Amino acid sequence: MSSSFWSSNQVGTFSHDIVTDVLIIGGGYAGLSTAFWLTEIRPNLKVTILERLTCGSGATGKNAGFLTIGSAAFYYNLFNRWGVEKASSVAAFASHSVNLLYESILKFHPEIKFERSSSVTLIKNQNFIESWKTNNFIPEDFHFTWKSSQELPDSLKSIYTGGYEASLEFKVNPLLLLNSIKGILKLRGVNFIENEAGFEITQTGVKTSRRLIKPQKVILALNGYSSQFHSAFQNLVFPKRAQMLSARLEEDFNCPDVYYDPAEKVYWRMNHQREIIVGGKRTLDESGEVGEFEKVTPLIQKALEQYLDKLGLKFQVTHRWAGIMGFTDHELPIIDRVPAPLETYFIGGFSGHGMGLGFLSGKEMAQVCLGIKEESFFHQFKQVDSAI
Ligand SMILES: Cc1cc2nc3c(=O)[nH]c(=O)nc-3n(C[C@H](O)[C@H](O)[C@H](O)COP(=O)(O)OP(=O)(O)OC[C@H]3O[C@@H](n4cnc5c(N)ncnc54)[C@H](O)[C@@H]3O)c2cc1C
Repeated sequence: MSSSFWSSNQVGTFSHDIVTDVLIIGGGYAGLSTAFWLTEIRPNLKVTILERLTCGSGATGKNAGFLTIGSAAFYYNLFNRWGVEKASSVAAFASHSVNLLYESILKFHPEIKFERSSSVTLIKNQNFIESWKTNNFIPEDFHFTWKSSQELPDSLKSIYTGGYEASLEFKVNPLLLLNSIKGILKLRGVNFIENEAGFEITQTGVKTSRRLIKPQKVILALNGYSSQFHSAFQNLVFPKRAQMLSARLEEDFNCPDVYYDPAEKVYWRMNHQREIIVGGKRTLDESGEVGEFEKVTPLIQKALEQYLDKLGLKFQVTHRWAGIMGFTDHELPIIDRVPAPLETYFIGGFSGHGMGLGFLSGKEMAQVCLGIKEESFFHQFKQVDSAI
C-alpha cells in the first residue's frame, strides 16, 4: 500500500502530522495489550495506535479464541529444544498471562461473554504417549493432568483413550475481547488511527499513507505482517496461514472445553451446544500455507470437514476463513529493541499462541520500552538480530 501522485492531488487525502510519546504500529491483541500496560504504568503517556485496516483485522479477529497455555504437544516441542526448566517456564508465563487477563480485564467486563474452560490435548492411542515417555517428557511438569477416557465427555469416550488437561483457562470471542480493551484505552486517552498504514521509520518520524507521525518511541506489533513492513524481518518472522470453519450441528454435542488433537493436527471448541469451530490441518499443505494471503483452500477445508465426520457429527458449514500467523524459528515470540532510525521495539512472532501469551507479553514490552526491565522474558530464547 502506498499513495500515488493522482491520489495525492485529491483534496483531503493528507492529514496533519501528529506528535506522540509512543507509536504502536499494529492494532491486534499484542499492540493493544502493550498500550494497556504502557498507560497502566504511566497514565500520562501519550500513546497512539496505527492500524492499516481496523483493529482486530489481523490474526486477532480470525482465531479460535482459546485463552490457554497451549497443547501438551507444543510443550513437547519446547522441551526437546530447550529442556524441562526453560520449557516449563514458558508454561508458567502463559498461565500467568491468562490469569492476569482475568484479574485485569475479564472479571470487570462481562460484555466479553468469556467462559471458564479447560483445554484438553486429546490422545487417540497409547503409542503417542509412549514416544513422549521414551524421550522423558512428562506433561505433568507443564501444568497438565491426565484424564482417562471415562472422564472425557460421552461423545469422546469411544474415540480417545484420554487426554491431558490444563485447567482454569478461558474461551472467548477474540473480537469482543479486543473491542473491550479498545474501549478501556479510549477512556485512557489513547489515540487510534485506523485505515492508515505505517510505511517507514525515518529519523524525523514514521511515514504513513497520509502523514508523518513524530513519536519518541515506536513499537512494531505486526506479527505475521512484519516482513511486509521491513525486509529485515524476513528471516525472523514467517507468515503462515491458518484456516478454520464453523458448522451448525444437527444434534447436541456436549463438549464444554477446548480441544487439541495433535495426531490429527486440529483444534476445536463448541461455540454453542450446536455450533462447532474447528481449525488446523495446515501441515497437509505446508508449503502452500505460507504468506500473507488470507484465502481458504479446498484441500484444508475438506480435511477439516472430514475430521468432523470422524467425530460422528452431522453438520452444515456456516463460515470458512483464514488468518495469518507470525512464526519464529523457535516458535516463541520476540519482544526486544530493534535497531532503527528512531528508538524502536518489536513484539511479535507468537507462532499461533498469541492469545495465551499476548497479555503478559504486552506488559513485558511496556516494561522494556519504559526502561523498567532491561530484557523481556523471551530474550533468553532469542537467536538472531535484526536491523531495520
Ligand atoms: C486461524 C487462527 C487461529 C488461531 N487460534 C488461536 C487460539 O485459539 N489461541 C491463541 O492463543 N492463538 C491463536 N492464534 C494466534 C493468534 O491469533 C495470534 O498469535 C495473535 O492474534 C497475534 O496478535 P498480534 O496482535 O501479534 O497480531 P495481529 O492480530 O495479526 O495484528 C497485527 C496487526 O497489524 C496490522 N498491520 C499490518 N501491517 C501494518 C502496517 N504497515 N501499518 C499498520 N498496521 C499494520 C494488521 O492489520 C493487524 O491488525 C490463531 C491464529 C489464527 C490465524
